[in-house]
Amino acid sequence: MADKTLFSKIIDREIPANIVYEDELCLAFHDINPQAPVHVLLIPKRPIVKLSEAASGDQPLLGYLMLKAGEVAKKLGLKSFRIVSNDGADAGQTVFHLHFHILGGRPLSWPPG
Ligand code: AMP
Repeated sequence: MADKTLFSKIIDREIPANIVYEDELCLAFHDINPQAPVHVLLIPKRPIVKLSEAASGDQPLLGYLMLKAGEVAKKLGLKSFRIVSNDGADAGQTVFHLHFHILGGRPLSWPPG
């Protein structure tokens, strides 16, 4: 079995995190290196490596995560926000456990860097 990712260790409480939401399928916690006044990571508890490695059976989970992203953003008081998922090292992915960045609390420019 592959080594546990950092995020699986957070799910299992082996590494501390500032958790803002949790249920049986997902966990949301503040990013340790925030890029905006609000920067939260939303992850599935099931360890999918990245979006492009999700399988058709993951469809309900992915839809669930999108709904939760909106709910968590609202809970954090965000009126506008951005969802980002870096897929692969060249896109900036550093933790290979699917996650969605929820960013807000300041104007966000476009295109992103
Ligand atoms: P990515 O670069 O898209 O894979 O995103 C990984 C994110 O995890 C980065 O924004 C990191 O700042 C964040 N991160 C790394 N370690 C931790 C940690 N222990 N707790 C919370 N966030 C973390």
